[in-house]
Amino acid sequence: MFILDQQTSIANQFLAEIRDVNSQKDPLRFRQNMRRLGQLLAYEISKSLSYTEKEIETPLTKSKARVLQDQVVVISILRAALPFSQGFQDLFDRAEFGFIGAARLPHNDNEPVEIALNYLATPELNNKVVIIVDPMLATGKSIVKSIASILKNGAPKALHIATTIAAPEGVKYLKENLNTPYHLWSCALDEKLNEKYYIVPGLGDAGDLAFGQKL
Ligand code: URA
Repeated sequence: MFILDQQTSIANQFLAEIRDVNSQKDPLRFRQNMRRLGQLLAYEISKSLSYTEKEIETPLTKSKARVLQDQVVVISILRAALPFSQGFQDLFDRAEFGFIGAARLPHNDNEPVEIALNYLATPELNNKVVIIVDPMLATGKSIVKSIASILKNGAPKALHIATTIAAPEGVKYLKENLNTPYHLWSCALDEKLNEKYYIVPGLGDAGDLAFGQKL
């Protein structure tokens, strides 16, 4: 597992702001910081992709350059992933995109959470590099369920899971329940889940902070 905030960088400032209750009063800043963290994590993932050498012509001479060979597909889990996945769109300009609607069904504290998938729109995935973007890896159930459904659309060359904040419980759930190879990338790894399955210390509800409280 790759954890971005294990190195000191400007990512730590963005992470501090998305967690901070005072900075959270500004939803534009929250979305912008999510987007910037998406850009930074997309850059880290880009180091693991395949490149091909190509001759290009500068105004002065011919030169060789390495350009992206892989076809990337970025799949966002709605709605909270949208600002974070914008950062992936900023870097992978020729990517294709997919969207999955996943919602927690109503549940009591400490009772297991069940996930309903209510929307799925993804391209064909054969031999492509698929990056699933979900900012909060809490129980891990929505990612496991989403991956089970998207794999019906083809066998990817590689599967990456990108999150802003992960809980150890979610990381463990993926390890035990995903029976396909994957790479996990997170900006931070937090302490635990609380009785409502929110990440602690976390940041609260990522979807509400970006888009307003839903009913
Ligand atoms: N989803 C969120 O938005 N926050 C959490 O802490 C867990 C899931």
